[in-house]
Amino acid sequence: MAFLVDITHMTHMTSTTPAAPSANVASASIPVPESWIKVLPQGLYVEPGDFFVDPVRPAARAVITHGHADHARPNNERVLATPDTLAIMRARYGDAAGASLQALPYGERLRIGEVNVTFVPAGHVLGSAQAVMEYRGCRIVASGDYKRRADATCAPFEPVPCDVFITEATFGLPVFRHPPDEGEIARLLHSVELFPERSHVVGAYALGKCQRVIALLRKAGYDKPIFLHGALIPLSNLYQELGVDLGDLRPATGLKKDAFVGQIVMAPPSAVADRWARRLPDPVVCMASGWMTVRQRAKQRGVELPLVISDHADWDELCQTIDDVGAPEIWVTHGREEALVHHATSRGIRARALAMVGFDEEGQGEMPEPPEVPVRGGSPTQGELL
Ligand SMILES: [Zn+2]
Ligand SMILES: [Zn+2]
Repeated sequence: MAFLVDITHMTHMTSTTPAAPSANVASASIPVPESWIKVLPQGLYVEPGDFFVDPVRPAARAVITHGHADHARPNNERVLATPDTLAIMRARYGDAAGASLQALPYGERLRIGEVNVTFVPAGHVLGSAQAVMEYRGCRIVASGDYKRRADATCAPFEPVPCDVFITEATFGLPVFRHPPDEGEIARLLHSVELFPERSHVVGAYALGKCQRVIALLRKAGYDKPIFLHGALIPLSNLYQELGVDLGDLRPATGLKKDAFVGQIVMAPPSAVADRWARRLPDPVVCMASGWMTVRQRAKQRGVELPLVISDHADWDELCQTIDDVGAPEIWVTHGREEALVHHATSRGIRARALAMVGFDEEGQGEMPEPPEVPVRGGSPTQGELL
């Protein structure tokens, strides 16, 4: 059975979107946001539509913003998501993706109970969407996870004017400023050039980051085969099937050690400093993550070449987005709420931190994070770890 039936087309919500509906409607008729969207233990509950957004426990109706495991969980009854997010959920969960799956493409509107729901690109990973929800003249946008910089593997974030913007805050501190991706990829390619006798193993999460790093390498002109740990193959193949060209990808299995000399191998973060990486010739351990700005984290994980590449907005992107959506009120969740609440308040915007549980505040996209490799002495050499 379908999530609900009435799909009507609407114009794509871009900068041409009219101002938030409250500007046009007599304020007396507009419901207070908290009266219809509530934080329950199961997650963000939209009462007049009787559905949850990214529920942390199985729900009768779930609107899913994107395929990361802390947002798209298995075993919901009815699931509404973009077509690409549903494909990702099917690939990860099979039948447990949900008893009934309904696709809602970007820019189309679906009425659920008394609420109109539209998905607008969030620029985070393939298929990722902001959930735009409208009820009696009040528009609330749940961003899910998002970023503002260009990403060839997914549609770019589009700001939607609204009454309340619910923002993530994974990197919600002014110290987090991600450098341009191109520079990070140039550092990787420079290292490959510098150490032709070694291999480079790049730790990256299976959904989004892996494919983005590959796309960035291709954009920089790297056209050799890129080798993949088995855990990264299914979603990378799915990206290619869904039209994201990643070039020549090969499984990093069944080959002699020599085959990896001078090559780039992608692996999940848990594998790069693990037994698995011992099959590679003298690997340079790299990690692509927004957390690589924190030197201690890189050190702890035995990362020789940290690459600051994030699928989450950094501080400047968060502040820019709050300006762009122009909402008089923001709700902050999913990370470091306090600084962003303070920033918004100082600009005359009402702001509150939502106490949501069950999300991966590290923004790694995969829960639970596998245990870290224990490191003796705090300043590991490569030899100790591999
Ligand atoms: Zn998340
Ligand atoms: Zn995510």
